Amino acid sequence: MRTLLLDCNYFPVKIINWQKAMILLLTGRAEVVDEYEDKLIRTVSTAYRLPKILRLFQNHKISLNVKFTRMNVFFRDNFQCQYCADKLPAHELTFDHIIPVSQKGPTSWENVVTCCRPCNGKKGSKSLKASGLILLKPAKKPRWSPELCLRLSDEDPNEWWNFFPNSTRVAS
Ligand SMILES: [Zn+2]
Repeated sequence: MRTLLLDCNYFPVKIINWQKAMILLLTGRAEVVDEYEDKLIRTVSTAYRLPKILRLFQNHKISLNVKFTRMNVFFRDNFQCQYCADKLPAHELTFDHIIPVSQKGPTSWENVVTCCRPCNGKKGSKSLKASGLILLKPAKKPRWSPELCLRLSDEDPNEWWNFFPNSTRVAS
């Protein structure tokens, strides 16, 4: 079971497992916003309902670092080729190293962009200048956002969606 963790301003920061949720709760670092009606955790002396949503009292210790992954690069770039602006599904997209690997370009947020296959072919191992291609926007490490970091699935509780400002789903 998963628990949605909110910061003290009710902003979703993380999805955690029930063990972590219970530690935060039992050490007094978070409070229950909502709980699973039918999921009980028993300790020697007490039974607790498993938290569905927890809110932290303080925000420190939560790392809001956006992981550098293939999907997160696509999310950052809005699934759009950063050269020709075509919007494509993930399986039709690839990466381009702005400074090519052959010229010691790093694999990093600042040097990797979403790219369609034709543009990737055009760019090859040329530098940006030599390829004649122009970037839609500079490649930067993205700011943390729930959409980028929290992968919600359809099995997750509907109530979670209330805490996602850009979500169109509504709790039933
Ligand atoms: Zn393209």
